[in-house]
Amino acid sequence: EPFITLKNVRKVYGRGRTAHLAVSDVTMEVAEGELVSLVGPSGCGKSTVLKILAGLHGHESGIVQIGNSTTRFDPGRDVGMIFQQALLLKWRTVLDNVLLPAEIIGLPRRASRERARDLLAMVGLAGYEDKYPQQLSGGMQQRCAIARALVHDPKLILADEPFGALDAITREQMQLELQRIWRQSRKTIVFVTHDIGEAIFLGTHCAVLTARPARMAEFFPIELPQP
Ligand code: ADP
Ligand code: ADP
Repeated sequence: EPFITLKNVRKVYGRGRTAHLAVSDVTMEVAEGELVSLVGPSGCGKSTVLKILAGLHGHESGIVQIGNSTTRFDPGRDVGMIFQQALLLKWRTVLDNVLLPAEIIGLPRRASRERARDLLAMVGLAGYEDKYPQQLSGGMQQRCAIARALVHDPKLILADEPFGALDAITREQMQLELQRIWRQSRKTIVFVTHDIGEAIFLGTHCAVLTARPARMAEFFPIELPQP
């Protein structure tokens, strides 16, 4: 039973004369615990698909279903998002940035702090809890954003070009980091990239979208190298 089902999903931005077909036909099924890359040319509609998965956008037609009989899904609680920019709040410490999603959905503070500390250690930021974002390098800020995306223990992680803003060396480190986090947590992760190498190197499955408006051209499993 799939965890994510998209069937002939179509999304139009705007109405009437300004109507703009962003996604014309996307179909895929993702089982729980998979690491799926969405790859396609810039502007083809990848972010739009991600926003639909996050429950941030409606769609004109087709089926969007997340969760199944064993795993109920509430988009308000069960999504963790990672963006190209870390988007940390500069007036909050690293720890308080990580805590933000837990605060928003009202999780118990003490347990969340504990979890935030563990996650910061997991992403290699132990000892940085009380620093501020400006005191961190770009790669460290993105690690902090990954910890933030996990703090409320979401069932689905959505990442939009999460390494796009990093230099090549940091990007490679962070790709391995994401793979490691996925292996440890076995969460379902869907990430967007325009880099075919990254799409094939990182995922268990790869979805290839055509140029705008996006259609699903291919959806195939990838043999991951054993750790
Ligand atoms: P829904 O798909 O649930 O109806 P949307 O988030 O697509 O809601 O927003 C409705 C309309 O608002 C869209 O069709 C789009 O034209 C416009 N819109 C939404 N976000 C933006 C944005 N960031 N920039 C410009 N227009 C936007
Ligand atoms: P990608 O992530 O592949 O670069 P996007 O999903 O961001 O592509 O965008 C797909 C198309 O939809 C683009 O042509 C973009 O300009 C348009 N688009 C994206 N968001 C909005 C919006 N909120 N309102 C109107 N058009 C949008």
